[in-house]
Amino acid sequence: MIAGLPGRSLTVPQFVRRSKPLTFHDCRLAVSHAPGGLVSSFFDIQTSADSPRELDVSSYLETLRGFKRASAGVMMQTMLHIVEMMHSGHRSPDDLPAIRISQICASKDGIGSPAAIANLIVIPETFVDHCLGADFATIESVIASDSDLRWWRYPWIAYLGFSWAVAHEYMHLLRSHWIFDAPDGTRTDEVSLATERDADLCAMAIIYRYLQRYCVRVSDDATLRQIALYSVFWIARSLPRHSAAATHLPMSVRLQDMASKLAMLREDPNDPPDPGAELPETLERMAYLQSCFVKCEKAYLSLHPNEESMKAEVMAAIENGTLDRVGKTWDELSQLVRDPRER
Ligand SMILES: [Zn+2]
Repeated sequence: MIAGLPGRSLTVPQFVRRSKPLTFHDCRLAVSHAPGGLVSSFFDIQTSADSPRELDVSSYLETLRGFKRASAGVMMQTMLHIVEMMHSGHRSPDDLPAIRISQICASKDGIGSPAAIANLIVIPETFVDHCLGADFATIESVIASDSDLRWWRYPWIAYLGFSWAVAHEYMHLLRSHWIFDAPDGTRTDEVSLATERDADLCAMAIIYRYLQRYCVRVSDDATLRQIALYSVFWIARSLPRHSAAATHLPMSVRLQDMASKLAMLREDPNDPPDPGAELPETLERMAYLQSCFVKCEKAYLSLHPNEESMKAEVMAAIENGTLDRVGKTWDELSQLVRDPRER
């Protein structure tokens, strides 16, 4: 147990093969699931014939030294804790997924046959480095809070942003998104957009619920929601832009969407979300989360002056009704997946 981590020590899930092969594709954020996964074009992973291909989390941590080992350890514990929380919350009948860190590139025939990827989440080491090395705005510059924010100066952005990416992947498993795939493992763009959005929103919801469960004595609810947004924003915003526009919405729109989702979630997890913003507290949350979002973007652009603002993409998506369209597709699909809670 490492000081400062809320929660408890976790055992590392072991690899378990399921009878049903999973064929969903790489979400391009962090994790390569499929043969020929897109990670190789997304992260610059060095190959080495001497490196083990994939390591379980404990073995991976043993390869690290010093500060990185300590930081990665807390990050992995946070992530495993969140994965376990999702697993028990959804009362999944399946085993916990194995989580492995890939130290080499996923090549064309890389991660393996569909059977070998069943219930397995592979995280490129470069994504671990991406999270641990993220430069970010100071919390006081983007979050409006009456709480003492000093506790949050630890690399929570890395811990929570990393956990969100893995939670996104695990949502694909938990919600059986693979059932929408064609027999050859492909998926229509429309279905991809809808399932990616579902994974994004549910992963953001679980980050908030985690903070709510373990950090409510540290900060008030409004601060915790902003911490969730700030963390995911920073890790996702600083990823290279990808070109899979047909299957994924732009990251700008995804982040805006996740900010709205955070506002809709009621404080009591047993209460249904408020997507129509009919409650005054939802409107209040929308206001401070939107403000946090804008401050994050401004701070990001001041640290990365050569990057384009996300504003035009977000405005275009609002004008074109993109999220409404994708949301309607998901509403239809969601009848077929299990346990669509939080939606
Ligand atoms: Zn995905």
